[in-house]
Amino acid sequence: MTNQIEDDLPIHDFPTATSVDEFARNIADVQANIARAAERVGRSPEEVRLLPVSKTVPEERVRLAVAAGCHELGENKVQEAKRKSENLADLGVAWSVIGHLQTNKARDVAAFASEFQALDSLRAAAALDRRLQAAGRSLDVYVQVNTSAEPQKYGLPPEEVEAFLRELPQYSSLRVRGLMTLAIFTSDIPRVRTCFTLLRSVRDRMRDIDPALVGDGGLSMGMSGDYEVAIEEGATCVRVGQAIFGKRQVPDSHYWPEAFDATGSSE
Ligand SMILES: *Cc1c(COP(=O)(O)O)cnc(C)c1O
Repeated sequence: MTNQIEDDLPIHDFPTATSVDEFARNIADVQANIARAAERVGRSPEEVRLLPVSKTVPEERVRLAVAAGCHELGENKVQEAKRKSENLADLGVAWSVIGHLQTNKARDVAAFASEFQALDSLRAAAALDRRLQAAGRSLDVYVQVNTSAEPQKYGLPPEEVEAFLRELPQYSSLRVRGLMTLAIFTSDIPRVRTCFTLLRSVRDRMRDIDPALVGDGGLSMGMSGDYEVAIEEGATCVRVGQAIFGKRQVPDSHYWPEAFDATGSSE
């Protein structure tokens, strides 16, 4: 591939959107970038789903984003997602939980979420399935893979994904949609790209073994700083917060207490 983004990720300042028009503009800009990235590698922009991530964003501003066209929203923390899903119930948003799940929160997730993107333990799968069966619901899930080999990161090591996927059919309320990852936190694009390429190759290997193992074979990868690279490597879902909502004041260490980056991606 020749026209890929090659060097360092650009530094963005991500201005805060405070009106429906500003949200609409940010969303349109991200969609245009998604389309360009897809076209660079001969993919159709329609293959890429944009999941806006509203973590830390107050409910009044989430309402503006929904008015501007966001009909599904990603949240990293269950408590925050639950609160927003209740207070914004009138909006009919589909909530996606994209952060690590403690099994004692499985009941909440089973009650309000339509998707869980960070499945990485059979304990969590069993807890979710039990609550979902009781509620007569099912849940779309992505299996989180640790593609950066950082020991502190959540997610299964790539070599454990096959055995894990083989266990999931027993939890019949979980619908496997694909694999999810967080790239290493660095502005060094080749290293970020390596994480995305690895997730794709794990997906491809699973498909070779048994296409049913990975469900739809989706790849949820890429965030505000790196979603274009992720799309070049095959992302079918990008999780974008700051490029839509504006720069977060809460440091990312609040969400990834363990993952911190020598290059100072938090500034
Ligand atoms: C916060 C978060 C994102 C979005 O990050 P931005 O930098 O705001 O785009 C994506 N995925 C996960 C798991 C997150 O917690």
